[in-house]
Amino acid sequence: MKPQDFLQPDQIKTDTQSLQTYGSDWTKHYTPDPSVILFPKSTEDVANIVKWARETNTSLVPSGGRTGLSAAAFATNKEAVISFERMNTILNFNTIDSTVTCEPGVITEALQNYAKEKDLIFPVDFAATGSSQIGGNVSTNAGGIKVIKYGLTRDWITSLEVVTGTGEVLTLNNSLVKNASGYDLKHLFIGSEGTLGFITKVTVKLCPPPKQTQVLFLSLEKLENILKVYSLFTQKHSVLAFEYISKLAAQKVVSATKYNLPVEDEASHYLLIELEDTADNIEATFATAFENEWLTDGVISQNSQQTQEIWAIRENISETLSTEYPYKNDVSVKVSKVTEFLEQTDQLLKTDYPNTEVVWFGHIGDGNMHINILKPSDMDSEAFLKQCHKVDEKLFTIIKELGGSISAEHGVGLVKKDYLKYTRSEAEIEIMKQIKKVFDPDGIMNPGKMF
Ligand SMILES: Cc1cc2nc3c(=O)[nH]c(=O)nc-3n(C[C@H](O)[C@H](O)[C@H](O)COP(=O)(O)OP(=O)(O)OC[C@H]3O[C@@H](n4cnc5c(N)ncnc54)[C@H](O)[C@@H]3O)c2cc1C
Repeated sequence: MKPQDFLQPDQIKTDTQSLQTYGSDWTKHYTPDPSVILFPKSTEDVANIVKWARETNTSLVPSGGRTGLSAAAFATNKEAVISFERMNTILNFNTIDSTVTCEPGVITEALQNYAKEKDLIFPVDFAATGSSQIGGNVSTNAGGIKVIKYGLTRDWITSLEVVTGTGEVLTLNNSLVKNASGYDLKHLFIGSEGTLGFITKVTVKLCPPPKQTQVLFLSLEKLENILKVYSLFTQKHSVLAFEYISKLAAQKVVSATKYNLPVEDEASHYLLIELEDTADNIEATFATAFENEWLTDGVISQNSQQTQEIWAIRENISETLSTEYPYKNDVSVKVSKVTEFLEQTDQLLKTDYPNTEVVWFGHIGDGNMHINILKPSDMDSEAFLKQCHKVDEKLFTIIKELGGSISAEHGVGLVKKDYLKYTRSEAEIEIMKQIKKVFDPDGIMNPGKMF
């Protein structure tokens, strides 16, 4: 049995350009080297691919929108890459259940737009939704900018169809709201980074949009005031987003794009907050933060264009930094530990990277910080990576002491697999490996990722 036996010629690619493109994701630290790219059009195609892979002992790498930041969709070792871009149909909308069923290759933004047509929202949102796929979002349990209000991708999945590493097709949960009939296997597949099987159908629920929202851009000089502002706003309002932007992150975006800072003067720290409440209520809280001298400046957006321009500062950070070979860390601690984490880490980075730019930003309202170390132009990539890995050990020791996670939302993939032990115990990792064996006894599903 070979792919030509069950796929059409246009579903198989081996040209150099395709191997390079589909063999990699957004991370830049590996060299793609797959043997073939396959484009299934149905669950049956996927099941046949698994059957062929088992017979020929071929490793399979699922590939979505390739926006992943942990190299989990990278094929570096002659694997067959399975791209879901041709399984991209929205299949149906259930008006009573408010659920949408779609194929895994549906682009996240297309699902968001589809929800809007129904006067509803799919609230998982982040800067890569124009390219990422719903199957990739499920496999990474994507978070993003609205987690503080709406949770992670996991919270919106009502049902999955999967093809396991044995080729079995399973429907998990069938969109039941209540289902107390044993282990909920869909949760194992959410965030599994393609290591257990393929996601071939996804059902998500939708919800009504927020009624009245306001966006604030605030300047702060003192780090310790961030949590005071967080407490004040989260106790008084329904907070949709609470994002942190460092001075350097804002400077990078302002110099690389057409967008300007919405406040007059630069500050050490900025917060972007989106709230659901009336303008009067929000202005009262804003005034309280000023009276307490937690803020040095701030604006409340006055119209939708200003809102879009404020969000653009935050949403253009990753794109702007991508030109500077960033080494990314995406870590989390409990929100109450954020200041402690920032202080300790800032000290560590200043000592260990004295001549290197370190750019901070992130979803601070859910304890998630992105730390981007930029490669000095006179350092070669290998030496730079070596230095980053050395510092990682120290950074993750701080994370471990604070009870945090080495990966908040980008996943483990190839990038973080050596550091899993800083967040998961030996016993946990062993159980995870045993679970993988149940679904993928031949070890053909995305081998070498996660552990
Ligand atoms: C500018 C930018 C901003 C980002 N911001 C955020 C953010 O705020 N929050 C966040 O969580 N992430 C963020 N990301 C990371 C990334 O967009 C997410 O991880 C996203 O969910 C990946 O989806 P994808 O379709 O691109 O998956 P890919 O990168 O293609 O794959 C990711 C993983 O999913 C697996 N996979 C893909 N499809 C399937 C399938 N059908 N079945 C089984 N496994 C599959 C792959 O093997 C891989 O392990 C950002 C990325 C960029 C570039």
